[in-house]
Amino acid sequence: MFVRCPYCHKLVLWPFFGRHRSKHTALRADGQMNEHVTLRPTRRYAGSLEEVPQNYRHPKCGVVTGMPEEIIRSYLADPFLYGDKSFCCGCGDYVSKRELFWIETGQSLADYTKRLQQDHVRARRAKPRP
Ligand SMILES: [Zn+2]
Ligand SMILES: [Zn+2]
Repeated sequence: MFVRCPYCHKLVLWPFFGRHRSKHTALRADGQMNEHVTLRPTRRYAGSLEEVPQNYRHPKCGVVTGMPEEIIRSYLADPFLYGDKSFCCGCGDYVSKRELFWIETGQSLADYTKRLQQDHVRARRAKPRP
């Protein structure tokens, strides 16, 4: 009967969920979705972001976009949460992560995500030692 909204994490009655969700996914004037799917705050990565890249550049338009902290903390906890595109402020659109590069490391977002996913799978497979 209820669905857990992946945007605001409230319980919403199923028949109203479509309308509810459209409020979150409506595009802002800059072309970016109003809000993005995140993990519930208690399930997000809670550690330091000091060593974590947070700004990426799109060489095609030359513009740097900052990754919102709640999104970083969500994909660090679950690297499979997001698709293979990310928003570019310069283009006002979602572009392939292969075309976006972290300012901090120079690595493409595609390679970075792949690495996080591999580490995530490995950590899950690793059995705790007796
Ligand atoms: Zn919601
Ligand atoms: Zn761009």
